[in-house]
Amino acid sequence: MHGSPEQYDVVVLGGGAAGLMCALTAGQRGRRVLVLERANKVGKKILMSGGGRCNFTNRLVTADNFISQNPHFCKSALSRYTQWDFIAMVERHGIEYEERKHTQLFCLHSARDILDMLLRECEAAGVAIRTHCDAAAVTAGHATGEATPRRYTVDCLQSGTGRPVECSSVVVATGALSIPTLGGSGQGYQIASQFGLPLTPLRAGLVPFMFSDATRDMCERLAGVSLPVELSCKGHVFVENMLFTHRGISGPATLQISSYWQPGEPVCVNLLPGTDATALLMDSKSGQARQRLGSLLNKHLPRALVTELQALWWPDKADVPLGEFPDRQVTTIGQRLNAWQLKPSATEGYRTAEVTLGGVDTGHISSKTMEARGHPGLFFVGEVMDVTGHLGGFNFQWAWSSGYAAGMYA
Ligand SMILES: Cc1cc2nc3c(=O)[nH]c(=O)nc-3n(C[C@H](O)[C@H](O)[C@H](O)COP(=O)(O)OP(=O)(O)OC[C@H]3O[C@@H](n4cnc5c(N)ncnc54)[C@H](O)[C@@H]3O)c2cc1C
Repeated sequence: MHGSPEQYDVVVLGGGAAGLMCALTAGQRGRRVLVLERANKVGKKILMSGGGRCNFTNRLVTADNFISQNPHFCKSALSRYTQWDFIAMVERHGIEYEERKHTQLFCLHSARDILDMLLRECEAAGVAIRTHCDAAAVTAGHATGEATPRRYTVDCLQSGTGRPVECSSVVVATGALSIPTLGGSGQGYQIASQFGLPLTPLRAGLVPFMFSDATRDMCERLAGVSLPVELSCKGHVFVENMLFTHRGISGPATLQISSYWQPGEPVCVNLLPGTDATALLMDSKSGQARQRLGSLLNKHLPRALVTELQALWWPDKADVPLGEFPDRQVTTIGQRLNAWQLKPSATEGYRTAEVTLGGVDTGHISSKTMEARGHPGLFFVGEVMDVTGHLGGFNFQWAWSSGYAAGMYA
């Protein structure tokens, strides 16, 4: 049964990182804010993030750490609510954190510290949070002359009595498609489409690769082996660890490059980053001519991987001294070590992707307020938009910055 509508100034759809940040910011401005969350609790992705320690931001944040059809869009929000602003809040709440490699900041104890902090801030700002509320429909009313026009009505699917909620601002913070069990949802895209806002193409990002051919069998045999590599695709390069899995490759380098990969393309693996492999092999060929190539490479690469490479690249010369290899073959092997072309058949998809690339086209959103052009009071924040960060705390920083931007105007 639907009763008479409830009334709020701001209704935030989705109690994830961006939604909570937006809610507490609007609440601090004295707005009456309601957060509607579909799941049984808010902030599930925060709790699962960073292996339970939440990589909540990065000490070095630039627009180059984000992927979007408009690479300039994120700059304004990132500069008005920076990593330092978030760090200051973390420190105000006495949360201990540590810096790991690539200037990534993680909680020292638990990701729950970040969620608890956001919830305390929401409570202090008088924000109401309602779980088990699936925001099913948003309809536009007409702005009246009231001081607080009731511009939108939100209908919820809720166990029990779901009353419609009227509000002057709706903030769509429903996240994206990645990991449905953690709240991944296409609702934000539907709302955008309903209001005539275009989407850029969606695809899984920060996601492991799979292979379908003999490479898959090799990966399966190497599952668990990890090594530092330089992975590149279409001019984008990441130096980080790569991990072999039962289905393909994963690890930070793979996740990063997956955000730039398109089906059908190869990725290039430099197994010896910073080393000219051909020069290394040629030097050894002349200096340690009796050495086996496998023995030489075992000093630089995991032994199991060398066994696989040998089966691929010099199967008939396993026991031949390096000095007896023709120069041309040494050069070819050296080149392959620095630029091994692998052709993934697919990514693992939204099931395991950390993020969704693409989303609400930023060309229709104000970079200052996150409000949709032509739709006063309709805001989009966080991952639902076409702004995707690299691995390293950038996606949360986008959630904080965009959430804050909308919270200041909603
Ligand atoms: C396993 C994992 C680990 C990650 N680790 C990190 C990390 O360490 N650092 C980092 O920067 N990023 C990390 N990310 C990415 C980061 O979690 C997301 O980019 C970020 O959570 C996006 O915030 P959001 O608020 O836009 O969306 P979300 O956090 O996904 O929140 C959206 C919320 O909306 C709710 N919702 C959806 N539809 C509806 C509806 N119809 N009605 C009501 N509610 C709805 C969902 O249940 C969810 O609670 C990780 C992602 C995953 C999946």
